[in-house]
Amino acid sequence: MTSADPPSGSRGPTGIAPVLQVHPTRRCNLACAHCYSSSGPTQRKALDLDLLSGCLEDGVALGYRQLAVSGGEPLLYDRLAELLARARSLGMLTSVTSNGMLTTAERWGRLAPLVDVVAISIDGTPSEHDAVRRRSGAFAATARNLEAIRASGVPFGLIFTLTQHNVDSLDFVVHFAAGSGARSVQVHPLTLHGRAATELPEARPDSVELSFALVEAMRLGRELGVVVHVDALSADQLRAHRAALVPARPVAELTAVAPVLVVDADAIVTPLTHEVSPRLALGSLEQARLGVLARDWLRAGRGDVLADACARTWSELTAPPERAAVYWYDEVARRTRRLPAVRRQLQACITSAS
Ligand code: SF4
Repeated sequence: MTSADPPSGSRGPTGIAPVLQVHPTRRCNLACAHCYSSSGPTQRKALDLDLLSGCLEDGVALGYRQLAVSGGEPLLYDRLAELLARARSLGMLTSVTSNGMLTTAERWGRLAPLVDVVAISIDGTPSEHDAVRRRSGAFAATARNLEAIRASGVPFGLIFTLTQHNVDSLDFVVHFAAGSGARSVQVHPLTLHGRAATELPEARPDSVELSFALVEAMRLGRELGVVVHVDALSADQLRAHRAALVPARPVAELTAVAPVLVVDADAIVTPLTHEVSPRLALGSLEQARLGVLARDWLRAGRGDVLADACARTWSELTAPPERAAVYWYDEVARRTRRLPAVRRQLQACITSAS
């Protein structure tokens, strides 16, 4: 999978270890309605292992300490074991996010020694999950395979994609997690990108839905002893964590402004999330190594432009009327696409660099 980011606890604006989020292929056994990467069975594109190895080396030098492999379905990337082994040899923590339909005992057994944490996507009750996954029996297949993951001893969590219509399903998912031995549930708001943008254009959760999810997460976590993390911030959290959310300028290090760095299946490197404006992408690993892309991006002042977008986002979101809760990266990304201000800044950067 997945339509989600790396497992919670690994990332983000709360100052946790910087994450290199790699999507090595769009190949997938499913073609889910909510897929942000438009992955599917007919997709063939996969990134070269040497290219990704160079990316990991440079990523570590830049301060990225965790590799999070997502997709497409990572288990359909032929070189997955080698990629994970390379990350481990560089001292990185490794995580894999999967739809769980292929994690049979045999397949998972080969990967398990290379994985520090695995996240499995569960999107509600069996019928809800199968509907959004557009595959009858998808839930049952994934649930069966959880036994192999549990038996391997690799800590695992579930990822639940929150839409405007399914916060009530969180109760089922957290109970299912508790009964399955999962340590956590990550609630990730639907991202309107890729197939999700055309198939579910009205389903992005609004701030009320996000705040319900925060409340439900607290209740369920307390009741069931499962860590339930929602990728959303309340208004109070926004105000309390300005220093972690808004990077200081001038930005000297990539990790200061991009605690998550996304490498998509086209080898494009983007800070924070897929939805950040392509104008703020670092570029393509097929054109230059990550170290070079990062150096040029910072020299051109792109880090400051992104930091300004963070500052503007924070100011707008904390001005009245406040919203009950927001998905921070989504809000920043939207502002990078709302571009007169960003375009002017980028133009200024280009002019001063030339
Ligand atoms: S959301 Fe579905 S189609 Fe997309 S990568 Fe995950 S499992 Fe595959």
